[in-house]
Amino acid sequence: MKIKFQIAVGLTALFIAVFRLSVQCQTAMNYNISTYTEPIKASKEHFTGTVWVSMITTPDELYNMSSGNVIFEPQARTNWHSHDNGQVLMVTDGVGYYQEEGKPILEIKKGDVVKIPAKTKHWHGGSHYSSMSHIAIVTETDQYASAIWMEVVSDEDYNSILSDKKAAIALSENAVKNHELLWPDYHSTFALTDPDLIEVFDNWAFDEVFEFGDVDPKLKVMTIMASTIATQSTNEYRMFVNAALNIGVSPIEIKEIVYQTVPYLGIAKVVESLKTCNEVLTEQGISLPLESQSTTNRETRFDEGLAIQKATFGNRIEQMQKNAPQGQEHIQGYLSANCFGDYYTRTGLDMKTRELLTYAMLISLGGTDSQVRGHIQGNLNIGNDKEKLIAITTQLLPYIGYPRTLNALNAINEITEKQNENNKTK
Ligand code: MN
Repeated sequence: MKIKFQIAVGLTALFIAVFRLSVQCQTAMNYNISTYTEPIKASKEHFTGTVWVSMITTPDELYNMSSGNVIFEPQARTNWHSHDNGQVLMVTDGVGYYQEEGKPILEIKKGDVVKIPAKTKHWHGGSHYSSMSHIAIVTETDQYASAIWMEVVSDEDYNSILSDKKAAIALSENAVKNHELLWPDYHSTFALTDPDLIEVFDNWAFDEVFEFGDVDPKLKVMTIMASTIATQSTNEYRMFVNAALNIGVSPIEIKEIVYQTVPYLGIAKVVESLKTCNEVLTEQGISLPLESQSTTNRETRFDEGLAIQKATFGNRIEQMQKNAPQGQEHIQGYLSANCFGDYYTRTGLDMKTRELLTYAMLISLGGTDSQVRGHIQGNLNIGNDKEKLIAITTQLLPYIGYPRTLNALNAINEITEKQNENNKTK
């Protein structure tokens, strides 16, 4: 009787086991990671950034095995942690990082398998520029925990791969020194994705070019800001606003450069840079608006603007006004009252700097040949000599390319030659 009962119990257990197995087989046949369970956002307690988890098996369901698909968005990661019985990661998509304590960060990508030894402190996550998905498998028992959670992976630890990658690029001493001067402790993610380009560009732009010419680094950065506003290169402009602050260009000077570009580029080309400028200043704890730099009003702007025009460009201005076709004189009026009276009369930047900035944005803009020539003459007239113009043009070359640079140098050469001839005939 007792035996019969045990057989019955045994058969029932076997039946249940076979039934469960068949259900599992059926599930396995229809198995799809992305739809197996609804992904849930992983707890902020143990993860940084956005991480999605969908469980595949729970320990109750399958012999103490806990497995799940985990999707890390770029720069999202686990906290530091360990697993009592170790862990297997199978990377199913993207590029991510894995690091064991005391070792460098490893890049892991689709198809890689990571076998993490028991009780080893580590973290895993997405890379700087890519999300990463992996299937994670651990075992869990009463004695052995699936995960022991520890501290957050700091940005410093996470970003260490960028400095490791940058260190592997052969950069000259000057290139490293000048890059550090402009952006201390900053490492671009391009070191990961484009090491060849970084080696070529940084060695050239931050050594050969940056070292060229007897120009204050502050002025170099200020003219590059004017140039990147003109070319609407918001990312690069943002980098140089940060560089400017790092080397002591004042917030007022940074803001005045943006304002100085408005009459030359038009507000449509400037507005994104203006927003970027405000974002960076606000991030640095600088409250806006800054102190007003305006020195003219509705009554005085025309006369004061005209005075600056005449002081910079000489008799040419009166001729321009006289020669204005009928019905177009108002534009000459705007130039005096608005371009010069509203902007050049502002404090915060001196006249020589404003004229160099104007030259920098005009040669970057292109299609401004006549204005470039006018402002080369203007610069020469107020004491920014040929050597300085060449030095500034050289600084802009990495950002505007050879064609516009060579056009600008041609204009400098023509105008200075003409000036030399005129001086001889006098
Ligand atoms: Mn782990």
